[in-house]
Amino acid sequence: MSSQERELNVEITPLFIDSFAKTFISRRDCYPWQQADGSYISVHKPLTADLLQRHFKGSITLGAYALNSASMAQWICLDADDETQWDQLGELADTLQAQSIQSYREPSRRGGHLWLFTPPLPGIFARRFAKQLITENNVPQVELYPKQDELTTGLGSLVRLPLGVHRKSGQVYPFVNRDGVPISSHPTGDTRTLLHEQMAIFADPSRVPLPFIMRVLARVPPDPLPLPKLTPEFRTTHATDGLPLSERLKSQISVLEFVSHYVQLDDRNLGYCPFHDDQIRSFGVHPDQNYWHCFAGCGGGSIIDFWMKWRERNGQDSSFKATVTELRQMLL
Ligand SMILES: [Zn+2]
Repeated sequence: MSSQERELNVEITPLFIDSFAKTFISRRDCYPWQQADGSYISVHKPLTADLLQRHFKGSITLGAYALNSASMAQWICLDADDETQWDQLGELADTLQAQSIQSYREPSRRGGHLWLFTPPLPGIFARRFAKQLITENNVPQVELYPKQDELTTGLGSLVRLPLGVHRKSGQVYPFVNRDGVPISSHPTGDTRTLLHEQMAIFADPSRVPLPFIMRVLARVPPDPLPLPKLTPEFRTTHATDGLPLSERLKSQISVLEFVSHYVQLDDRNLGYCPFHDDQIRSFGVHPDQNYWHCFAGCGGGSIIDFWMKWRERNGQDSSFKATVTELRQMLL
């Protein structure tokens, strides 16, 4: 459909506009306005029903900020730049659909947007949830909106408000199903019907249930902790010629110095165990024998044992081989 056809045909009721706007628009105190070159300027004036009406009629095109003034999100938009990424997003949509999670495909000039609507979420959790989906489904190249965990300055990221005219291409890109057919309960409807149908769908879109979001968030590995810098005090003075790598690590590296970068130890070398919910400083290092121990049952041993447990805790590969390899890169 071209913008001209829409201009002639469409009358949209305020109720439709208001419901649709509530789905996509996070704030009404300002709005992004798309220019002829496709860029946006921020207009610091209230977003009125009349401006929205003009968006759907095609005479102007608005954007939608991803976060409200309290840094809350109610949608996630994944942006594919090209056909390859768009196909990958299609696969993600299928994967979600198989778990009864509805996402919405909005193709564009090339690539397109995949939308997920959520209950109101702090931006940081919306992004963590989306990043985990992206990671698990191997689509790391797609762009994720919101782009900020929270707003510190400015208005944050924005996406073109759907069902408007792309100022650069002059086209409108309706939402489509997996076969590329515009979604509607009347698939053969005329322009007016299609726009109305889609506005009705997005006045009350299917939202990702909170339990699903919580399950995905539970799979997010904790942020990796900073690696210690190699400092001379890690080195003991033991002779290690001819020993295998693991024995060299055990002999050359001071467990006390290494562990001190991760566990705060008191002057008796005791601290809160990083491997269980410790209230009583069950964790200790014995510098003379160069080993650590947890009295609450987490075990103990060499630097390798410590780092295996640390990697396991962080959701990383905790095999002996991966652990020794990393320690060698860090320390030797
Ligand atoms: Zn412990």
